[in-house]
Amino acid sequence: MNKSLYSKLILIILVLILALSAVMGAFLMRGVHSFYINEFYEQMQVVFSSPELADDLRAAAAGEDAPARMAEILKIHAGQLGIDSGRRNYFILNGSTGACLTGSDAERSTSLAMTPNILTAISGSEGYRVDASADYMDVALPVRGATGPTYIVYILDSKDTVTDLSSELFGIILVSLGVAAVISVLLGVLLARALVTPITNLTRAAERVASGDFSDKPESHSQDEIGVLSRTFNEMAGQLEANLDELRRSEQMRREFVANVSHELRTPITSIRSYAETLYDDPELPPDMAHDFLRVIVNESDRMTKIVQDLLTLSKFDAGRTNFDIETFRFEQSVRDVYSATLIEAQHHKHEFSLEFCGPIPRIRGDRARIEQVLINMVSNAIKYTPDGGRIRMTAGADGDAVWCTVRDNGIGIPAADLEHVFDRFYRVDKARSRESGGTGLGLSIAREIVLRHGGDITIQSRQGRGTTITLRLPAGGPEHA
Ligand code: ADP
Repeated sequence: MNKSLYSKLILIILVLILALSAVMGAFLMRGVHSFYINEFYEQMQVVFSSPELADDLRAAAAGEDAPARMAEILKIHAGQLGIDSGRRNYFILNGSTGACLTGSDAERSTSLAMTPNILTAISGSEGYRVDASADYMDVALPVRGATGPTYIVYILDSKDTVTDLSSELFGIILVSLGVAAVISVLLGVLLARALVTPITNLTRAAERVASGDFSDKPESHSQDEIGVLSRTFNEMAGQLEANLDELRRSEQMRREFVANVSHELRTPITSIRSYAETLYDDPELPPDMAHDFLRVIVNESDRMTKIVQDLLTLSKFDAGRTNFDIETFRFEQSVRDVYSATLIEAQHHKHEFSLEFCGPIPRIRGDRARIEQVLINMVSNAIKYTPDGGRIRMTAGADGDAVWCTVRDNGIGIPAADLEHVFDRFYRVDKARSRESGGTGLGLSIAREIVLRHGGDITIQSRQGRGTTITLRLPAGGPEHA
């Protein structure tokens, strides 16, 4: 593509300059030619319209030895007439036959042709006719004295001067055509390079982008169309790169998610199967043991159901198919209800569990059940991840147009490196501990989806071994005012 664009540009410039030079040359040559012819006829008319010269010629024509005397007079005016005996000559012709009687060039006088102007002069009129195509120029003027025969004063120019000039001009034009050709090729190369190089760079960059390499972007600071194109291309490549990264990330997340789901579901299925098999194979199993086994099977089934339900909830969020049951309710009451609902469990683990309100809390709009689900998740995590006999404080309040609730524990805490992942699906710092307490690793991801869809946020602060504080914040206006 580059080669063809290169040669096309050079060819176009070459043809253009050559054509231009040729047209100019032709006009120049024509101009010189017609200038010379006009000059000749004007000169003749000026000289021969002089009454003295006409009188002199007429007087000579009437006298003795008329042709020689007339020739003498013309010789006197040779300078004005431009007679140079080589290329321009004068002749005295017989007025009725046109035969040459004498002239400035004896050699030529024997071979004079009968031109239209001589014929005009024979007929008695002045022959000034211009014939641009002829290879000569001539003027024939009849001169009649008071007495005696008529003569013709004949000036003949061989046009050699203009021919010489033309051929010299032609030579100059040819040379300038050659120079123009060289200049146009050089110009073409420069222009083509200036135009083609950025396009070539852009093509290479496009090829690299097509092969997935975004590392090198074509630089362009110029304000012309190619500069704009380069910058637009870079923007597009940047956008594409970002999209591709996003795509890769979500593909990676999808793979991890599928692997996690399979793993999470396989674990309870494996235990259910092995306990069921034992029960099936050994009908003689002591009833106590059989009862324990059946309890494990029921627990694991519940666990599976919970995982599947949580996954269903998340997939509904992902697909945007979740219907919120929005109402205006007392947030403070929800916090109280969650506190009461979890108090038994906290006491069961011998935790010191307190509830405190900081000032009045406005009613809020939202899906009450889901918001309470988030609060329950926050508290039950605090209970699960705090060694028995710990301290859990639930605090709620209002902050301008928003309400908040914090659950603080002095439990095991979360290592700094894990903190940013706790809202990821299936992410658990300590899998065994989470499983033991019936966790699925989906609780906080669901909580975050619910909170974000209410226009709020949920944040977690923690220090390993010291405890965790998780804070929920919701706009009082609900999702519509988010
Ligand atoms: P899980 O069902 O495992 O509790 P969550 O999504 O609710 O899943 O929580 C994700 C992980 O975050 C937990 O597995 C746990 O490691 C960590 N985590 C959450 N809350 C706390 C807390 N209060 N103290 C310590 N770790 C916590």
